[in-house]
Amino acid sequence: MCHAIHTVLALALVLASAIVSPVYLLEFCQSADSHCHSHDNTATDAVKSRWNVNHSNLIQDLDQFRVSCKKLIEAFPIDEVDGNFVRAVKNCIFSQSTPTPLKGPLRLAAVSKDVIEGILDVDVSLTQSDEFLFYASGGRLLRGSVPLAHRYGGHQFGYWAGQLGDGRAHLLGQYTNKKGEVWELQLKGSGKTPYSRSGDGRAVIRSSVREFLCSEAMHSLGVPTSRAASLIVSDEPVLRDPFYNGKVKTERGAVVLRLAKSWFRIGSLEMLAHSGEIDLLRKLLNFVIDEHFPSINSDDPDKYLVFYSTVVNETAHLIAKWMSVGFAHGVCNTDNFSLLSITIDYGPFGFMESYNPNFVPNTSDDEGRYSVGAQADVGLFNLEKLLMALSPVLSEEQRKEAKIILKGYVEIYQLRIHQLFKAKLGLVGEEEDDGYLIGFLLKMMEDTQPDFTMTFRQLSEVSAEQLHSRNFTQMWALEDLSSHKLFSDWLSMYLLRLRRQENGDSDRQHRMKNVNPRYVLRNWMAESAIRKAERNDFSEVELLHHILSSPFVTQETAEEAGYAARPPLWAERLMVSCSS
Ligand code: AMP
Ligand code: MG
Repeated sequence: MCHAIHTVLALALVLASAIVSPVYLLEFCQSADSHCHSHDNTATDAVKSRWNVNHSNLIQDLDQFRVSCKKLIEAFPIDEVDGNFVRAVKNCIFSQSTPTPLKGPLRLAAVSKDVIEGILDVDVSLTQSDEFLFYASGGRLLRGSVPLAHRYGGHQFGYWAGQLGDGRAHLLGQYTNKKGEVWELQLKGSGKTPYSRSGDGRAVIRSSVREFLCSEAMHSLGVPTSRAASLIVSDEPVLRDPFYNGKVKTERGAVVLRLAKSWFRIGSLEMLAHSGEIDLLRKLLNFVIDEHFPSINSDDPDKYLVFYSTVVNETAHLIAKWMSVGFAHGVCNTDNFSLLSITIDYGPFGFMESYNPNFVPNTSDDEGRYSVGAQADVGLFNLEKLLMALSPVLSEEQRKEAKIILKGYVEIYQLRIHQLFKAKLGLVGEEEDDGYLIGFLLKMMEDTQPDFTMTFRQLSEVSAEQLHSRNFTQMWALEDLSSHKLFSDWLSMYLLRLRRQENGDSDRQHRMKNVNPRYVLRNWMAESAIRKAERNDFSEVELLHHILSSPFVTQETAEEAGYAARPPLWAERLMVSCSS
């Protein structure tokens, strides 16, 4: 079946530091040294005015912020064994596990005001306090928190890997915000759990900066994703072999406070099916459906089938979204695929630069299993594994129906890709040759390898008149593309198609600019920010966070930093592996 989708996709293709203000840096002293952190009012006022805080509705004291684990703990049996030692865990969904505090001094490297205030209802100025550093790195527990590590398994690189689980993450609890949304707060890099296997329970600065920046950037791109509230870095030494070549380096530990409506994965269900814990499998499914799929009636005898159909649909949509911005997740194992079809577990991801469906962001992925162009296929593989995990709770008839649902995945994906790329080209309505127009362009891009992001962005910025006269001054990606011998043919077709649309050219440009980002988190941009962050200079992390929160808007600081220019030569030599 995987082969089939490849063919269809191929067919579709052929046919068809100058930062504005210095970052507010707080170095945390573990002793209560008054020199370390000022509590005077002037400082607090300055911080508040900097963040432009609206006091009225936000929590002003972190001790007032509470989470709850009640629902999760009451819904499921908890691991009967205690302690953070590695073991095979049975008959539960969670193990209670206390985070191991990071060794100080701790520093707040980044914070998302959007998450802290918009989701957690907390005045962002509170993140500048000692308490926040503790809470957000596992040194102190939020009120109401009973930290949990989730037991899950998964298929890694095509093979069943058995028990995996939260080996370095702690679920702190759920927070119900002012809007009535329920969010699960999780620390990543917060120490060992029963699922740590041979790992140390830590995450290093470079991977944590990448997770923080990318999850927030993806949100701003309109891609469903987990969110990041804060990034705390420490001086705790963490040993890593970044390129798996025997050169072990001492790096430093960091913790990201991240949020999702749910952290359950395909691997959550697979674990229970594989170990024959069918009652628990049913319990987890019922919980997920009741909490996160409100349109599914819990009395419906076909509810698991409807659930499956929804996940198939949403996963197809998610992967189509990834493809529309050139995002390669890097490790599409079933344990990294959310049941809510949001992007989770940012590791060796990458945004494709030169257009190349074989782009593999993860240098540890020798076979290119998770290349950008293979993601639709991999989605299908993962959904097959989900179906296998559901099988024990489906009747024979329902299993047959589920297989038919799965067959529909390819079509859903293609339809969605078609819509997204039509929008990327500013096409309104539907014409017979639209698929051909898109496929033709992508084929030319495959041949000439222009920058993916900037080709679409520059097509959005260029006027029809400029296009007609092939006036591509400064439009470096279009210059690259236009070297194709069939470019004129494509261009004539595209211009004719645009001319048949009723709305004017500026309307087309406007629509296209809203779906084609000017800035994405390119590896070299992240790398440059990471190098500084490793020296405790977080200015570029903040700059990127700020710029990528409006990826569709041209920004002076971004232009000065060259974020829409040709990538520097050193970018080509960059490597990102699974080491994190
Ligand atoms: P990932 O590739 O990040 O999705 O992780 C796969 C599995 O390895 C998950 O069970 C993680 O919790 C676990 N893991 C990754 N790194 C570590 C680490 N440093 N310590 C403990 N467990 C880890
Ligand atoms: Mg993972």
